[in-house]
Amino acid sequence: MVKNQVQFQTGYSLFELFQNYGTEEQCQQALFKWRWPMGFRCPECGCKKYCRIKTRNLYQCNQCRQQTSLISGTIFEQTKLPLTKWFLAIHLITQAKTGVSALSLMRQIGVSYNTAWSMKQKIMQVMKERDDSKPLTGVIQLDDAYWGGERRGGKRGRGSANKVPFVAAVSLNQAGHPVAIDMHVVKGFRLNEISKWAKHHLQPKSTVISDGLPCFSAVKEADCYHLSIVTGGGPESVSKEEFTWVNTMIGNVKNAITGTYHAISLKHLPRYLAEFCYRHNRRFQLEDMLPRFGYVAVRTPPMPRRLLNMAEAYG
Ligand SMILES: [Zn+2]
Repeated sequence: MVKNQVQFQTGYSLFELFQNYGTEEQCQQALFKWRWPMGFRCPECGCKKYCRIKTRNLYQCNQCRQQTSLISGTIFEQTKLPLTKWFLAIHLITQAKTGVSALSLMRQIGVSYNTAWSMKQKIMQVMKERDDSKPLTGVIQLDDAYWGGERRGGKRGRGSANKVPFVAAVSLNQAGHPVAIDMHVVKGFRLNEISKWAKHHLQPKSTVISDGLPCFSAVKEADCYHLSIVTGGGPESVSKEEFTWVNTMIGNVKNAITGTYHAISLKHLPRYLAEFCYRHNRRFQLEDMLPRFGYVAVRTPPMPRRLLNMAEAYG
C-alpha cells in the first residue's frame, strides 16, 4: 500500500514545540532571529550595536538610544500575552487539518474567548497577507463559488441573494495535480472585479481554464491566456475533467469551515478562505510551518481590534 504523503509526513509534535519554544526566552530569541536575520539594526539610525533591556523586552541602540520593542510594528504589537501562548496558538492553527475555532483555542491555551478570537483573526490575517503576495502560476482552473444563502430559500446559482461570491482558483502541475489554491471574495462576477483579482493573484502568461461565464475573459487583462469551456450548466458540468480540482476544493473549503466553526461572520469570510488556502498550500511542509509563519508574522503590520472588526468582506 502506498502511504498518503500528506497524512504520513513526520510533522511537528507538541513535544518538540515545548522543547524548542516552551519558554519566553526561547520565543523571544526566535522572534529576534526572524525579525533581524542579519542581526539587529536600529530602525532609527541603522546602527548595529545595542543593549537589551530584558525586563521590558526592549533593544536599545548604542548610538542614538532609540528603544525598539521586539514586537512593535508586527502583528504581535501591544499584546499582553506571553509569547509562549502565541506560539502554541500558531502551532495548533497551522498544524490542524481543518482548522481550530476560537472556542477551542480559548480552552487549549487558557485565554478568554475575546482574546482567543482576536488571536485567531490575527493569525489568519498573516496567512492572508502571505498568500496574497504569491500569485498562482502555470495552468489554472478557475470557477465562481458562493458562500451561504442556500438555506434561506433564495434561488440557487449565480446572483442569488444572501450569498457572498468568491473566486476559486487552483493551479496544477504538469501531471495535473493541484499545487496551490486561491480563494478570494469579490463584489460580483463582473469583468472589472475579475480583472482586478487576476492582476493581483495570477502570474502573467499563466493559462486559465474556466467555464463560459463572460467575466472570466478578464484574466486576459492580467496578461494570461484564457481557455473557456462551455459546459452547458447542470450537474454534469461539475464532473467535467477540466474543473475537477477546483470543484473538489470548493467542496472541501465549505466542509472545512462549516465543520470547524459554529458560525462565521460573513465580513470575515476572506480570512477563513485564506486560512484554508494557506494550510492547503503548505500541506507538505508541516515540519517548518512555525518558523515560516513566524518570519512572515514579524513582517505583517499590526492589526488592532477595531480594524479586525471592520467589515472587510472584499479585502
Ligand atoms: Zn540608533
